[in-house]
Amino acid sequence: MIVGIDLGTTNSLIAYFTEEGPKIIPNRLGNHLTPSVVSVDEEGNVYVGETAKERMSLYPDTVAQTFKRSMGTDREYILSGRHFKPEELSSMVLRSLKEDAEAYLGEEVTEAVISVPAYFDDKRRKATKRAGELAELKVERMISEPTAAAVAYGLYDKTQDTRFLVFDLGGGTFDVSILELYHNILEVRAVAGDNYLGGEDFTEVMAKLFLQKRNLQLQNLDEKEQVRLYRQAEKAKCAISDQSQVTMNFLYREEMLEEVITVKEYEEACEELLMKIREPVKKSLADAGLKLSEIDEVLLIGGATRLSIVRDFLIRLFRKFPDTGMNPDEAVALGAAVQAAMKERREEVREVILTDVCSFTLGTEVVVEYEEGRYEEGRFCPIIERNTVIPASHTERLYTVRDNQDKVRVRVLQGESRYARNNLFLGEITVEIPKAPKGQESVDVTYTYDINSLLEVEVTVTSTGRKQKMIIKGDDNQMTEEEIKKRMEELAYLKIQPRDYEENRLVLLRAERMYEESLGERRKKLDRYIMSFEAALKKGDHDEIRDARTALNDVLEEENE
Ligand code: AMP
Repeated sequence: MIVGIDLGTTNSLIAYFTEEGPKIIPNRLGNHLTPSVVSVDEEGNVYVGETAKERMSLYPDTVAQTFKRSMGTDREYILSGRHFKPEELSSMVLRSLKEDAEAYLGEEVTEAVISVPAYFDDKRRKATKRAGELAELKVERMISEPTAAAVAYGLYDKTQDTRFLVFDLGGGTFDVSILELYHNILEVRAVAGDNYLGGEDFTEVMAKLFLQKRNLQLQNLDEKEQVRLYRQAEKAKCAISDQSQVTMNFLYREEMLEEVITVKEYEEACEELLMKIREPVKKSLADAGLKLSEIDEVLLIGGATRLSIVRDFLIRLFRKFPDTGMNPDEAVALGAAVQAAMKERREEVREVILTDVCSFTLGTEVVVEYEEGRYEEGRFCPIIERNTVIPASHTERLYTVRDNQDKVRVRVLQGESRYARNNLFLGEITVEIPKAPKGQESVDVTYTYDINSLLEVEVTVTSTGRKQKMIIKGDDNQMTEEEIKKRMEELAYLKIQPRDYEENRLVLLRAERMYEESLGERRKKLDRYIMSFEAALKKGDHDEIRDARTALNDVLEEENE
């Protein structure tokens, strides 16, 4: 079975295709969203999702989150003294989703279509693929998140040509993509975004607003207090969209603080964040050569688009109501499942050809003659520009700059800077050319970039027709199959927790956290219920455990009101 996976910054989801269309598979706790959070304790036990998230406030040193932001980099996370790369942490999330899907479907899941942000470069895509391999999932195809969203919004049934703007405000990232469905081909026309803008920033504004009202400073709070403050701020943020105000509580130095925050106050405090939203929208439209009025549909995805202040802002910006017919958290995973069905060539899905764009500019280093006889070295000459639809092939002719020059060195670079030194070096080819006065000899440099992110560079000496070719895979730290296997073995000492215990552990963690957050009678009551649950767990009697867990859960629900 091929499944579709949305490996998100904040939450991940897994979906499959049924006769009635794509469906989300609930996780072991019965939820659609699995937080992309991993925790590893001293004994090497791995916790994923809700349980790992709960451990954040109790054992912050054992927990990693938002690691998707560092995919494809060398960053390491240290959990209980053990080192992990972002793709290894992602692989634990994938493994957990895979297990849940297998338990739910009753069959093995061996392959997945995983979604990635449209702007993810080759390195990040390869890291995502490796994460799949480490979780024993074959990942032959990736789908860009906006494309997946458009597909989920019923695109595979659409017969009319449409231009979409996909507005994706997730937990930690913001992406705008412009897509066009034209004669059955879905093309990403442009992507733009901000890697450091998301729902979490809106949580931070809420937390700061609260502190400001109480004349408190964030740096005076200890780590646990900060985690608690953010948790309460997140809760208030999610509640404020349905009301004109919210009451936020926060336990500070044995005192329960309470503040009312109105939507108006919150909106004003978020003004700067809302302004930041405009830039990528403008940039994507400019790159696609379109006006706002030429967009037929605006699709919202990402949890933070549930915020009413964001929606109101978008209505003012676009002067139209965005399409909100779908759960913004689920669109990407559902789209990935449709793509999985397309890969399996299922009859229910119409074959729509999905294309992608190159998310960065590819070019070469040149010497520029800016005045007769005066040269500037180290300049960057773009060959395939950002947002060009791929596959793409472009040629640029470069002339000699010195008399009797006998070589031309073509340095292959990626980036947006005017200066070669600021862009990423990918490789180089040197070709020999006949000696001649400057400017008389030339080479044609052709870059061909394909859908699998392979760049082919071909240099042809114009006068002799001699060609030289090079293929750049764009990833120098790629792991070989053996290396992946070895790392899998190394990670095997980690014990992924058996599914059955998950619910018990989660209830216990929640209870412990709530105990820490409570005072007086409430605290004593929680203590009593925790103790009887622990006693049942020690005894190991199934029925007794279930009853004690239900009782404790009821108290938690009651106290959480
Ligand atoms: P995602 O990465 O798409 O799962 O988005 C997660 C972000 O959406 C987090 O910052 C959440 O706080 C935010 N979010 C989820 N539900 C809501 C809601 N009802 N109102 C406001 N923000 C929300």
